[in-house]
Amino acid sequence: MNENDYLKQIATLTGLQHYPLQGPWGRKSGTVIGTRDGYVTAIGFLRSREAKIVILVRFKKVEQPELVKSAVSQSTAVSKKHGKLAEVGNDFLRWEWKYSFTKPKAEDVTRLADALRESIKRVAQGFDGRCEHCTSASTQAMTLMNGVPVFICPGCQEKVHHELDQAAINYDAIVPNYPNGLALGIGAAVLGGVAWGLKGTGKVTRFGQVIIPIFTVASVLFGDAIFYTLAIMKHEGAPFSTRLLGAVLSHLWEIEREGGGVLTILFALVGAGYALYAARKPKFKAAFQPLGMPSS
Ligand SMILES: [Zn+2]
Repeated sequence: MNENDYLKQIATLTGLQHYPLQGPWGRKSGTVIGTRDGYVTAIGFLRSREAKIVILVRFKKVEQPELVKSAVSQSTAVSKKHGKLAEVGNDFLRWEWKYSFTKPKAEDVTRLADALRESIKRVAQGFDGRCEHCTSASTQAMTLMNGVPVFICPGCQEKVHHELDQAAINYDAIVPNYPNGLALGIGAAVLGGVAWGLKGTGKVTRFGQVIIPIFTVASVLFGDAIFYTLAIMKHEGAPFSTRLLGAVLSHLWEIEREGGGVLTILFALVGAGYALYAARKPKFKAAFQPLGMPSS
């Protein structure tokens, strides 16, 4: 049976709906999605190196996800022979059932999904027709947020967009991705610089634009100084001393000119420039999508 027909069968057995092409896992076969007693369930295929059936159960945000975890592990109805609890967050759990060649019996998957939902009822509540973010606006229909079924009102969708823009700025700023052994040090300096620049205003300020390249050059120079000091130690068999480091530092400019270190600094500056540019132009966003027509 192909994935599509299999999920249709799961939909019939669970009483949920099958949405081809949609859902969190990006498969053509889509996802079985629906709510029961307010708990959102999504079932679909996940293929990375291994083939898996995934069951996602979502609930109202809890303070202690560990309680959800232990509720599931203690439940005798949740068969531990049928996969394992892969992850628990404060508003979801994800169960993964690895298989090879033959897909698990659809009845077993259905039983598992029911058992998972039942097992957490004492420790986590289902949704109640209100937006799960502001917990006030009436929200009857589920929306896919980057493929994950959620209850979110239009106002909160806007807010999430805005927050993710911020997250994108922070994220991009820590990924100055160029091939250089010093990238780590520079990354730290850039991050520090961006953090400075972002402070208070929520965007890269003029101050940030000035301070970041300075941090960058400083970190490259310091990284080089350590490198040359280590090289001398190795070559001369000398132990580390602050005097040696001091000597290298005081002659750093000559050494850099000899050794092509100036080029490194230029590259680092390009890197910092790119990080600044990337910080101004966030790339990833939250995609909200209504659920389409379920397959019949
Ligand atoms: Zn809301």
